[in-house]
Amino acid sequence: MTAYPTTLQNLRAADPGSKVLEITTTTGCIVRCSYCSQDKFADRQRLVSQAKHLGVQDFKQCLSRVPRATGISFAGYSEPWLHPHCSTMVEHAYARGHDVRIFTTLVGMNGTDVRRLQVLRFKTFVVHVPDDGTYMNSRLVGKTTSMSCAD
Ligand code: SF4
Repeated sequence: MTAYPTTLQNLRAADPGSKVLEITTTTGCIVRCSYCSQDKFADRQRLVSQAKHLGVQDFKQCLSRVPRATGISFAGYSEPWLHPHCSTMVEHAYARGHDVRIFTTLVGMNGTDVRRLQVLRFKTFVVHVPDDGTYMNSRLVGKTTSMSCAD
């Protein structure tokens, strides 16, 4: 457990001063880590919009105004692949020339997503592995079909 803060420090130090736009692809996260404030984010977001997923066209339109030197991070109080078209957004950001950062538990990702992502080169790809159910949704622990990369 002590390696976790060290890893985050290393990630920050590796790219000092760089600008990163964080993308939240969905509202609400089924992993429900006890230390995460995603439920507060979801409560506030639902006051603004009932949309569960970020629209792919909205994402592309917004990204067209972002300088290519800005990194794009898929994380942000959600599990990115609970959005069915997350890989499409990742590929789009990558094709525009952005450095792409991924932070994921892999929940929602399937084998097709893995194959699409394998051909890309990421600035960062961090996998948040499941625990024994102490801090994460215990119903997900041991469910290889929801936590694995199999189709
Ligand atoms: S997987 Fe990430 S977004 Fe989801 S509850 Fe855990 S820390 Fe929050």
